Formats: sequence, structure tokens, C-alpha cells
Amino acid sequence: MLDSFPSLIDSADSPEAVSNPTELIPVRYSGDPIPDIGRMVRMPLFKRCIFITLSRAYRADFEEYLWLIERGTPETWYFKPQKQPLRDLEVFDSSMRQPTMLDTPRVWASAALTTPTDDDIYDCMAGHSLDQEYIGACHQCTDEKSEALDNTDLVYYAIVSTNSQHSPMYGSNKEGKQIYKLIRCGSRESAAAEAFYHAGVRGCSIVFSCVFRFGETPDDKPKAVVERVDELWKLAEEAEDNSKIRVFY
Ligand SMILES: [Zn+2]
Repeated sequence: MLDSFPSLIDSADSPEAVSNPTELIPVRYSGDPIPDIGRMVRMPLFKRCIFITLSRAYRADFEEYLWLIERGTPETWYFKPQKQPLRDLEVFDSSMRQPTMLDTPRVWASAALTTPTDDDIYDCMAGHSLDQEYIGACHQCTDEKSEALDNTDLVYYAIVSTNSQHSPMYGSNKEGKQIYKLIRCGSRESAAAEAFYHAGVRGCSIVFSCVFRFGETPDDKPKAVVERVDELWKLAEEAEDNSKIRVFY
């Protein structure tokens, strides 16, 4: 099946080949040009094509997976619960049915997976530059914020998804339905490595990712209001309101 993929054969117009997490999900600094929103890449090692999307994530995307972020146990497959009434999460029993390996998984490399902790800061609020005309990144702010982030523990969440495999041995009501699991990591690099592994080896899609500050996750504060921050470095600042939790995506 996969061998019939013409794009897997090396030729001038075949998609770019990637062989490691850094090539699949390169870091992107604030000043970098906006890349193509989506493109195909190949993983020759695993004989798989991956559709990688780089568009920005919005609140609606976060809300879409909030049920899993708030209530999911990492590394456990779930079916998405029905909206009404809000039921308990239904675990996908992988001892009876296997998750499907998708021919062309999708990896959504949004800001959480691509923003480096030493990202350039353009909005200097401390008046570091004496030159009023200067429009580049403020090196002093960049250094200060990246050092603060390096001293802050973060928690990266990635949502993995595939389908439940068709199996004639078991009931048909859940066959082919989408299943989801949560992965938690301590750094962007390990989240990117997980994305690479799940897409390449397991044939699963990465459908969302976000970053919390350690100790300030929905697990730590289950009833808290979640507030988005527009820059990763803001997670290194002390919280102003302890009843809220901050998230970057
Ligand atoms: Zn500055």
C-alpha cells in the first residue's frame, strides 16, 4: 500500500525528506519569515508521508481538546465524549483493538512546538536602546527573558490522534472512530521528539499542543480559569492572579 506512494520515491519534485525531530519541527523565531501554512514531508526511514501544518492555534482549538487536557490520563487512548450530557471519558481498550496506523498522519506544529525559549523579543518595555529608530530585537530583554524561561519548569501537552482499528471480532459501534491521547513532556525538544515518534513510527497525528507552567496546570488547579498568554516568556513571570492558570499555544 505504502509502496505505491509515488511521493516516497526520490525525485526532484518529491516532498522534502526528514529524518529527525529537528527537521520535522524546526524552531521558529519571532522575526523569521512566515512559512507555508502546510506542506508534505517524507520520512523515508518509516516509509511514510506526513502533512505538516504550521498555522496559529486559537482559543477554539484549545477548547476543542480541553476535555482531554483537563481530564485525561497521559498515554491513555480515549474516545471523545458526547457534548450533552457530559459523560465520563470512555477509555479505548487497546488490548482488544489496535489504534490504526495512518498512511499520512498530520502534525500540527503550532507555536507551542516551534517557539524556542530564547525567542527574540522585539517589544522592549525597559528602554534599553538609546536609538529611538532601532526596530530590531532587544538583546537585553531577549537575554533576560530566555534566562528566566530556562529557570522555569514548563509542561508541554501534545494531543495525539488516530482511528480505532476495524476488527470483525469485536462490536462494530466504535470501529473507525477517532481516538485521542495526551502526552506530557518537560521541554519543547522532547515534545517534538514525541511528535516525530508518534507520526513516524506509530502513524498517528499530532492535532494540538500547548504549554503550561509547572505547578499551574489544569491538574494542579482543576477549577481555575485558563488564560492564554501571547508570548512564551510570559510563563516565566510570577502569576498575578492565583485563581487563573496561564497557557501558551
Ligand atoms: Zn529591552
